[in-house]
Amino acid sequence: KEVTLERLNEAIENFAFEGKMTECRPYGSGHINDTYLLSYEIGVMGRIKVILQRMNGEVFEKPEELMENIVNVTSYLKERITENGGDPERETLNVIPTKDGSSYYKDSEGNCWRSYKFITGATSYDKVEKPADFYESAVAFGNFQRLLADFPAETLHETIKGFHDTKARFAVFEKAVEEDVMGRAASVQKEIAFVRSREKGIANYFSELLEKGELPLRVTHNDTKLNNIMIDDKTGKGICVIDLDTVMPGLAMNDFGDSIRFGASTAAEDERDLSLVSCSMELFDIYARGYIEGCGGKLTEREILELPMGAKTMTYECGMRFLTDYLQGDTYFKIHREGHNLDRCRTQFKLVEDMEQKWHTMQSIVKKYM
Ligand code: ATP
Ligand code: MG
Ligand code: MG
Repeated sequence: KEVTLERLNEAIENFAFEGKMTECRPYGSGHINDTYLLSYEIGVMGRIKVILQRMNGEVFEKPEELMENIVNVTSYLKERITENGGDPERETLNVIPTKDGSSYYKDSEGNCWRSYKFITGATSYDKVEKPADFYESAVAFGNFQRLLADFPAETLHETIKGFHDTKARFAVFEKAVEEDVMGRAASVQKEIAFVRSREKGIANYFSELLEKGELPLRVTHNDTKLNNIMIDDKTGKGICVIDLDTVMPGLAMNDFGDSIRFGASTAAEDERDLSLVSCSMELFDIYARGYIEGCGGKLTEREILELPMGAKTMTYECGMRFLTDYLQGDTYFKIHREGHNLDRCRTQFKLVEDMEQKWHTMQSIVKKYM
């Protein structure tokens, strides 16, 4: 549903912005929320910019829990950044409360709105232009992990239940095969066998280690793409991680792994020519170096050793989700052509196979930076 001017004005009225509004326009290229940039003039010299977002009520059903996560994580970050002599106005998101002190405003139609201080002198890039961008995003997500290393991750709400519970997603996949509502299972026997043969080796791997207490629960971001980082216009350094909607308790390896899944692939996610699809070891190396450096010794040795497994798991899980959606009739991921989800599934499985072949290289890369 489109944002109406009435509701936008209603939201603006309910935040404690100072000064006279001189600008209000849609901003950025986010796909989930509706983002606006507002400028205010205070006196003759002062100028303040803020971000106002209508949160996506379909994707996120519990705005109060989501905002509680964001407020707790950003307040904690602010303290750590200040202690370290950083700039808490630029290196973390800052929630601007509503006039009555709440972290979000629910308008008369039930839409929820929130506001952040605008981060100045920095840009979020939609596309990786050069390896240095990929490296900077790795450092920024690593820093995020480092600063939050002692945050009690288990106190965060799981805003999307079982988001990276690969074992649970495997069960959903098996159910889709069994029900076979579209009659497509027979035509994808090879892909189904691919998933099944890796049930123990991949699908159950992390959950078993978690149960045994061998992996710590971390604050994870869960949407670790380049445009969720603000890059400083002067220094080119990744200064701030934004878009904290999916901050949840999880595994550091999964944040790392999802970045590798889409960032180190040599082809598009829906490429049909599988000979073009591989996992670049050059890019894997760059990201691993940045991430491990950014984490600054806060990851356990075990976590570092399991980073390649994070890449394999996230890629397998994603391919399995595309296959599940194909079997269920393409109800979750938007498709733009016949068999689109199957094409996507195949690129992911090709990447998994490629990682399996390059396994020793991946392991020696992470050991190099340990
Ligand atoms: P996605 O599609 O990545 O999930 P989204 O819809 O959740 O995006 P955000 O990533 O929160 O939206 O914001 C969209 C864009 O707005 C960002 O990529 C960034 O360019 C800009 N932006 C968001 N917050 C700020 C901020 N505090 N300061 C400056 N720019 C910001
Ligand atoms: Mg975003
Ligand atoms: Mg987002």
